[in-house]
Amino acid sequence: MSWSNALVKEILKPESLIISSEIAVVIADKFPKARHHYLVLPLADIPSIFHLNRSHLPLLEELHLLARNVVEVKGLHWQDFNVGFHAEPSMQRLHLHVLSRDFVSPSLKNKKHWNSFNTELFVPYTSKAFEAGFMRQLEHHEQTKEIEYSELYSQLEKENSISRLSKSLKDELLAKPLICNQCEFVAKNLPTLKEHLVAHLQDPKSIRKRTTSENKRTSSSP
Ligand code: AMP
Ligand code: ZN
Repeated sequence: MSWSNALVKEILKPESLIISSEIAVVIADKFPKARHHYLVLPLADIPSIFHLNRSHLPLLEELHLLARNVVEVKGLHWQDFNVGFHAEPSMQRLHLHVLSRDFVSPSLKNKKHWNSFNTELFVPYTSKAFEAGFMRQLEHHEQTKEIEYSELYSQLEKENSISRLSKSLKDELLAKPLICNQCEFVAKNLPTLKEHLVAHLQDPKSIRKRTTSENKRTSSSP
């Protein structure tokens, strides 16, 4: 079995399943890119997002439900998570990434890892039904937080398929600078970014906007 089939192999092992339903399962990512990183996979043999059509929208809702369930079961907070698909997946079997926004992990090893989760190479997925409920809840609490509308859901609904990014756009996104996902810091290299992410985790209140000169000073320090 080729390496790209490792996830298919993994979901056949009962001990790997954190949660399962008749339609999908949740496993831990073996090389987590954050403190908490799960994958939700359908049991149906769907190789990737490029094999989805409108008829799969209920399946995506189920994947999203399991994503919410695993976060709840682990006693974590939904708002601390990014949920979505890679625009250019490497492993076979459709898989929804559910990972915490800290990105503090020894398995985060290169710029490709960072940019694949923190540029348009990551396609967020939000359940339409859940989003509506969440919005009502926020209105109830008189909050004004904006909720991202899921592009993926609307693209499938309207176009009946997911389009691939062009090679030039993929290359452009992979080459983007290392921009922090929690403030405007631009790191000169991955070790600097990782150090910065640990600081966010240790002191969440440190999240603030940096001035350009401050950023330059930090990123040019040895
Ligand atoms: P993608 O780039 O979207 O195809 O992501 C594949 C994910 O599968 C990565 O986050 C890997 O860390 C993860 N992965 C690779 N092999 C395994 C495995 N045997 N079990 C669990 N997760 C894996
Ligand atoms: Zn930051």
